Amino acid sequence: MKAETRITEELRLIPRWSVIGGLIAFALVQYYFWVFLPSVRTRPPELPTALRFYLILSWGALAALYVLMIGYISNDAPRRGMDTRVWMICVIMPGGIGAVLYFLLRQPILSHCPSCGASIEDHFHFCPHCSWQVAASCGRCFTSTRVTDLYCSRCGHDLASDHPPARLHAFSRE
Ligand SMILES: [Zn+2]
Ligand SMILES: [Zn+2]
Repeated sequence: MKAETRITEELRLIPRWSVIGGLIAFALVQYYFWVFLPSVRTRPPELPTALRFYLILSWGALAALYVLMIGYISNDAPRRGMDTRVWMICVIMPGGIGAVLYFLLRQPILSHCPSCGASIEDHFHFCPHCSWQVAASCGRCFTSTRVTDLYCSRCGHDLASDHPPARLHAFSRE
């Protein structure tokens, strides 16, 4: 899969409510610093305008990013079998620690066995519940193979010599 399409797919996981929430968070930060704070402050601001502009935009972007992260995790955690609520709360830990932890600790994406519906990780060759073969593999070293492969990419084994051929086995098993 191309990196570009992968990023687009990941971005699609960000729900609309969190995009709107992010925009609101950004607007609220701008309102607070540009409208509310000057109205209650008695002294004029100490920082030069350009620097204030930069800092306030950055704070706004950061607030928006947090809301987008929460939205992303609300869709990303379930497909990895992770506790969605706990991680949506963890991610707002200060300094982005929660987000770093999430990406360090997140589990592989789960899919479902076409035969019995059990959760299976993408590196599995067989369903651990019903032994349905979910991926073609080499008959000698059991590395995953693609259906178009004639020889194993790891050990060079002739896949057609497996009986029935491993690369077709995944699709012929009843
Ligand atoms: Zn199964
Ligand atoms: Zn092999």
